[in-house]
Amino acid sequence: MKYDLHIHTHFSRCSAIKPDELLRIAKERGLDGIAVTDHNTIEGGLNVSKLNHDPNFKVIVGAEIKTEYGEILGLFLNEEIMSREFFEVIDEIHKQGGIAIAAHPTALFRRNLKHPCIELEGRIDGIEGFNSRALPYENYKAQKTALKFGFGMTGGSDAHFNYEIGRGYTIFKGDLRHALKTGDTQLDGSILYAPVGGLLSFFKKRIWL
Ligand SMILES: [Zn+2]
Ligand SMILES: [Zn+2]
Repeated sequence: MKYDLHIHTHFSRCSAIKPDELLRIAKERGLDGIAVTDHNTIEGGLNVSKLNHDPNFKVIVGAEIKTEYGEILGLFLNEEIMSREFFEVIDEIHKQGGIAIAAHPTALFRRNLKHPCIELEGRIDGIEGFNSRALPYENYKAQKTALKFGFGMTGGSDAHFNYEIGRGYTIFKGDLRHALKTGDTQLDGSILYAPVGGLLSFFKKRIWL
């Protein structure tokens, strides 16, 4: 299975991806599934999930929640996450049966994980080891941290624009939750256009709207 586990749609102000185009492009690029993770809302995920009628393509409803210690990707959600407090957000995600992943934990110029990893064992379900908007050093450091503390790892594009869809992904066999628990995920992708994406989001948020 090849899933891009971090994608935004136009339900995020910094993204221009349309739900129907997301489905079409994700399949064209050979993905078996995606997680839609808009900023602080599951609206985009619900939308894309409703549009998907392909039994061979999986849409995971998620959100990327901003907290005081960094951003958390909540996957497999059914309801909006109300809290913006790090540990409360994780609890809310788990109460829904979802999984909590620390997004771009080692980012230098974006919100990174500001909580000691040693105290997160057993609380978070994994960390994002590959983000296509990250610098090589950031991804390297994230993967090293995951290995050190025994966290599962995900990979995703953090796409905000069509060209970014599928530029980061997670490869696993069987059930994603199980693969994360046993550390059996592989991550890959390309960071070639990483700086371009950040700039486009900056302009989308401040000028286009
Ligand atoms: Zn964004
Ligand atoms: Zn994101």
